[in-house]
Amino acid sequence: MMMEVDNDTTIPVSDASAVNANIPYIRDKDYYFEDESVILLAGTRLFKIHRTLFAKGSPLFQTMFSLPQDAATQEGQSDERPILFHDSPQDFRALCWALYSSPPEILAQQYPDTVDISKMISIAALSLKYDFRTLMNWALDTLELLAKRPGSFIAKVKLWSRVGRIYTLAKQCSRDLLLRRIEEDWLYRISVGEPHAFRNALIVAESFPEHRAFHGKAYYSHLKALKTFSSKAPETDIRFIHEVTSVKNDHLQGLNDQQKTRIQRGFWSLSLIKIQLLRTPRLVDNPACVTHARGCVPTWREWWEDLHNEAECKEKPLEDPGEIIEAAAKKAIQPLKSIQSPCDAFIRAQVQKMVEDFSGSLADYFMIP
Ligand SMILES: [Zn+2]
Repeated sequence: MMMEVDNDTTIPVSDASAVNANIPYIRDKDYYFEDESVILLAGTRLFKIHRTLFAKGSPLFQTMFSLPQDAATQEGQSDERPILFHDSPQDFRALCWALYSSPPEILAQQYPDTVDISKMISIAALSLKYDFRTLMNWALDTLELLAKRPGSFIAKVKLWSRVGRIYTLAKQCSRDLLLRRIEEDWLYRISVGEPHAFRNALIVAESFPEHRAFHGKAYYSHLKALKTFSSKAPETDIRFIHEVTSVKNDHLQGLNDQQKTRIQRGFWSLSLIKIQLLRTPRLVDNPACVTHARGCVPTWREWWEDLHNEAECKEKPLEDPGEIIEAAAKKAIQPLKSIQSPCDAFIRAQVQKMVEDFSGSLADYFMIP
């Protein structure tokens, strides 16, 4: 039996041009680009990019592209007359990648196996420079996500030059978590004498004054690696003099004169502090306490001596000034026996403050401007 063909189901062939001739087109407000391009030069590499895409993410590019064109030079209109950028081609390529890439490529950066760290650093650096605020935050968030994962972030980054660049970017953009993760890892590597860790820390710290505190900590960690504080309690002046002059010449190899002076000067200052800490540091006066001199001061002395005795008993004598202060702060979590308030809290707060003061003064000890 033959099926009847319903004439109504036949779809007529439409004449698009005829339809469109009667309906005016409306340009999409977000995605209709005037496809005009501009030619830029970074290093020796020419880039021809869409003005609209760059101007959209960066107020700086927006201003640059809205300036009236000089008819005589026609800058950016030909390979012979590109707009000059003082960036590396690698950095500029990364910025282009970020602006032109597809969602799967962007998504791949969230995973440790597929993230391109070098690219993220370039994007963060150029986004900061050219004020691509959203891109900058995204690149730094991506690096931060990687830093939060277990394992050494520095090991994942692989190259010291990259580590230094991330560290400086994190400082410039107040990324505290990133700074902390890198700094702890880096200082540890210096303190165990890992090759290149100290030298690279100096390169980064000397290039940016904002790294002053890190600069001081790097020198201190280097002194730890040299085991310069390992001598026993200096009981006589002669032993003391021996200690503060024991930065051996082979420890200073490869450093310039200024760096050598910093090591020697820092070692001298920290050795003096160590002497004070091996004896009992003076207890700060507390006007609110009436039994300070006859009660608190002797108890304080006993408490501090116990700190060293306890360490000796464990055969781990406290020799390094920073370690002594940290051990004291740890012990001061518990109340001091036989001291009544208000002095107990007052003294323990003083001990906790010592850690902060010590860390905050390291750059001074090494004469870092
Ligand atoms: Zn007191």
